[in-house]
Amino acid sequence: VAKRMRGLQQSVLGAMTVRCRQLGAVNLAQGLSQVPPPASPLAAGARDFEHLGHSYSQPEGLAVFREAAADKLKRCSGLSVDPATQVVATVGATGALMATLSALLDAGDGVILFEPFYSYYLSSLQVLDLHPEPVRLVGPDFRITEESLRAAVTDRTRAMILCTPNNPTGRRLTAAELAVVAAVADEHDLLVISDEVYEDIYFDAAPHLAAATVGNLGERTVTLSSLGKSFSVPGWRLGYASGPERLVGAIRIAADSLVVCAPTPLQEIGARALGLGDDYYRDLRAMYDRKRRFLAEGFAAAGLSPNEPEGSYYLFVDCSRMGVATGAEAAEVLLEDNLVGTVPGEAFYLGAPERPYVRACFSLPDEVLAEAVDRLASGSLTHG
Ligand code: PMP
Repeated sequence: VAKRMRGLQQSVLGAMTVRCRQLGAVNLAQGLSQVPPPASPLAAGARDFEHLGHSYSQPEGLAVFREAAADKLKRCSGLSVDPATQVVATVGATGALMATLSALLDAGDGVILFEPFYSYYLSSLQVLDLHPEPVRLVGPDFRITEESLRAAVTDRTRAMILCTPNNPTGRRLTAAELAVVAAVADEHDLLVISDEVYEDIYFDAAPHLAAATVGNLGERTVTLSSLGKSFSVPGWRLGYASGPERLVGAIRIAADSLVVCAPTPLQEIGARALGLGDDYYRDLRAMYDRKRRFLAEGFAAAGLSPNEPEGSYYLFVDCSRMGVATGAEAAEVLLEDNLVGTVPGEAFYLGAPERPYVRACFSLPDEVLAEAVDRLASGSLTHG
């Protein structure tokens, strides 16, 4: 086994899913997204399946998919990209991230991660011999501050990874935070990778603020999107990256070397999903808003302190009142005593979290969430 694989194991999330199965626990750990996908593009796809493309597509993806993606980016994120040169279809957002890192960075380069971060960023960097440079998000509402970002940049820093809406914190980056990112990125000529897979899942009226629309970030930002989140089909492994032509051109070549192309028939069906109108997204957000409130009330009724996510489909729950020192301990009690599986906050940090956090996913059917809330109420979680 290669030296760079040292310490890489099955993710904490995957391991928690296995334990949930063994114990018969409700699994709020992995972002499994078990809500139904939109019926109309699926039905059309099923009807036409025989006649869809079943061979390789060109590495950048089918034109129909890229055109639908560019149109959707314009409508939902205010991003203007040329589908001919500035979009590439990928094997999920994970494939988009791997292709982007492979195409644009060299072994040993430093990449800033805002902590807590989606744990795959770290393993992706490790697999590619890239060097993580963590920057702590500040305060109870996990903000990027100019001071902490500036202090983190080193001689080897070449890039940073943003995530908005954020997994696991549920925060959406503000224009002010993105202005800080833009200033520091300009000063040090950094690549910005903006993971916006939750771009369609947010809970206040303000539309999604794409990093690439702020200041001149568009000149140096690759935006990652996933049909898995927007259309509840994570198992399709279909996403896309967009950005300036000089960056996307290299990403297309890397994506070809890595996986040849994204699944062709799913690109065709995905293009139809990308064409869904405002009503679809309104319903999606209303559904997640309801699920978010329901699960948050369950955690609060059990005496714990869930955050109020602005977007994404996770709660980040402060378990201090359980009298535990770490998120790992909290997750263990929730699993063993209440049969509710969550992810220990430590999975999203390189250093130690300030508080004992766990992350709980609410992209699940209502009856599963109801079962989780019942089980949270079943044992005394707090002391005194
Ligand atoms: N980025 C974030 C922040 C995620 O939460 C996820 C899925 N959990 C991904 C990327 C991966 O997306 P995909 O399934 O499209 O590879």
